[in-house]
Amino acid sequence: MVSSVRKLFVENLEIRNLLAADFVPGELVIQYDADLAPLMMVTNQQMGAEVLQEIDPVGQGAATVARVRVPVGKDLMSIAQEYQKMPGVLSAEPNYILKKAAVSNDPFYASGQLWGMYSNDSPVAFGGSGTTNTFGSGAEEAWGNNFVGSSQVVVAVIDEGIDTNHPDLQPNIWVNPGEIANDGVDNDGNGRIDDVNGWDFFNNDNTVYDGGSGDTHGTHVAGTIGAVGGNGIGVAGVAWNVKMISAKFLGPTGGSISAAIQAVDYLTNLKVNHGVNIVATNNSWGGGGYSSALHAAIIRAANAGILFVAAAGNSSLNNDTTANYPSNYSTLVGVSGTPAASYEAVIAVASTTSTGGLSSFSNYGATQVDIGAPGSSILSTLPGNTYGTYSGTSMATPHVTGAIAVYAAAKPNASAAAIREAILGSAVPTTSLAGKTLTGGRLSVLDAINYVRTPTISISSASGSESVNGANGVIDFRVTLSEPLGQDISVNYNTSNGTATSGVDYTSVSNGILTIPAGSTQATLRVNLINDTLVEPNETFFVTLSGVSSSAVVLGSSQATGTILNEDSTQLSISDVAALESSGTFRFTVSLSRPSASNVTVRVATANGTAKSGKT
Ligand code: CA
Ligand code: CA
Repeated sequence: MVSSVRKLFVENLEIRNLLAADFVPGELVIQYDADLAPLMMVTNQQMGAEVLQEIDPVGQGAATVARVRVPVGKDLMSIAQEYQKMPGVLSAEPNYILKKAAVSNDPFYASGQLWGMYSNDSPVAFGGSGTTNTFGSGAEEAWGNNFVGSSQVVVAVIDEGIDTNHPDLQPNIWVNPGEIANDGVDNDGNGRIDDVNGWDFFNNDNTVYDGGSGDTHGTHVAGTIGAVGGNGIGVAGVAWNVKMISAKFLGPTGGSISAAIQAVDYLTNLKVNHGVNIVATNNSWGGGGYSSALHAAIIRAANAGILFVAAAGNSSLNNDTTANYPSNYSTLVGVSGTPAASYEAVIAVASTTSTGGLSSFSNYGATQVDIGAPGSSILSTLPGNTYGTYSGTSMATPHVTGAIAVYAAAKPNASAAAIREAILGSAVPTTSLAGKTLTGGRLSVLDAINYVRTPTISISSASGSESVNGANGVIDFRVTLSEPLGQDISVNYNTSNGTATSGVDYTSVSNGILTIPAGSTQATLRVNLINDTLVEPNETFFVTLSGVSSSAVVLGSSQATGTILNEDSTQLSISDVAALESSGTFRFTVSLSRPSASNVTVRVATANGTAKSGKT
C-alpha cells in the first residue's frame, strides 16, 4: 500500500522534473473542498498535524489550502495518503520546492562567455553557469522561473539576412503558415511569392540568407534574441523559444530607406491581414537622416501593436543634440497624412559593458535614448554554424527585443504599450546611464516580467455649454483609474478660475470628494455652470485633483481645464417691406436681437426680384 503511494508520487515528481528530495521535510500542502473547509481544523487535529499556514487562494474569506507539519517520525507519504481519505480533502502533497526549471546546457553559457545573459546569482547547483555578472540582462533569472519564451510569439529582424540553417537558430526561424514553399505562387496573397521565412528587400527575393559575409550581422542579432536554449549546443538567446522573421534590407553596400519602409510595412501587413503575432521588430541599424515616409511606416506598425526596438548608434554622440535615426523617431509625433499613434512604440537602446559602464562607442541621450543593455563583447551565432563576438548598440538592441519576446510569451494579452512600460519601468538604475538615458537604467528581463504598474488616477479636460434649454449648464469631467482595484478610491478636488469667474460663470467647489467604486475605472466629476445672457468668448476654469485615499494609487494628470462654451449670440435681421410705387421710398427695419456693447455694421446691397433696377 505504502509503496504504491510512493510510486504515485514519484511519477508525479518525474513529471515535474523534480527529485524526491525537492520538498520541505515533514510538510504537506492540503487542499480542501470549499464547502467542507470548516472541517479543516478537525481533520488536522485528527492527523496530529500542526497547521503552519492557512491560505485563502481565491480571496473569498475562507482558507481552502493549509500548509501543515506532520508528526515527527511519521512517514510523509503515509500521512498524505491518510489525509486523502478524509472528507473534504481534495489533495495532500509534499510541499515541493520549486527550483529553477529551465536549465541552460548551452556550452558557451556554461563556460561563462555569455555575460549578457547573466545575473548576480547563478549557482551551478540550481542550473546556473556559476559565472555571475550583475550587469548582464538577468535573462537567466527569467529562464530559472520558466520564462523562456514561446513559439506563439513572433519578432522580426530588420537587418541583413539570417542564416536560417544555423542549428542554434533553425528551430526558431518563422515559417510562414500561409505559404507553400517553392511553388512559385503567392499563396497567402501578401504580394511576395514564397516568402517562407521572410523576405529579402535588398535583392527583392525570398532568399533571406545569401551566404558569404553578407549576413553575419543579421545572424548575430538573431542569436541574441532567440538562439535555441537548452539544446546542448552553442549559445542561448534571451528567448529560448520564439519565431523570428527575417526582413532583410541591408546588403553588402547597406540598404535604402525605400527597402526599410517596405520591410516595416511587410511586417505590419503580416500582423494586420494575416494574423501573425509580431510583437516587435529589431532595428540594429542607422543612418540616412530623417525620413517622413519611414516615420509614417513606423507609426503604421505602432498602430498594429508592433514595438520598434532601435539601436542608439555607435558614434559616442548625444542623440538629444545630434539626431540619430531610426532610434530618434517617435510614434507620438505624427507626420503629414499619418496621425500620431496613441502610444510610443520606439525603444532606443544604448550599449553597456560587462562592468556596467556605457560602452565607449555608444550613443546616449537623456531624452532620446531609453535604456541600456549589454552590447560590448557579445558572443552569438554567425553563419555556417559558427559563433563570434561582436560589440555595438546593434548587440544591445536584440537583448531588449528578446526580453520583449519573453514578456509577451508570459503575458500574451499585454498591449505593446504595456510591454514597453514594463521594459522601461523595470530598468535597474545604473550610474553610467544616469542622465544618459531616459530611464537611467539597464535592462532586467525578470524584473520586466514582474513589473507592476502603479495604479494612476487622472482627470481629462472637458467643455460644456453654459446653458441647456435656458437652464444652467454643466461640465462633466472624466476621472479615470488606470486599472480596476478591489477598493473604492476617493480623491479630493478643487476648482480655480481661469478666464471664468467662480460665482459668476460656474459654481466653485472646495474640497470636493469624488469616489471611483471598487472594480470600476471611471467616475464623472460634475461642475455646475451659471447661465448668463452676455455675448462673450468661451471661458475657462480648472479642476485640480489631490489627496488620493490610497497610497497605492498615484496622481497622473491632476489638473484639467473646463471650457465654458458661450451660447449667447446676437442675431441681425431685416424685415420685408411693401410700399406703393407712388410713395417713392422703402423703409427696411434692421434689428439686433439684443443690444450690443459695440457698434455693429453690416453691408447692404440690393438685387432684382421681379422689379428691375434703374430709372424705371
Ligand atoms: Ca506570400
Ligand atoms: Ca543553443
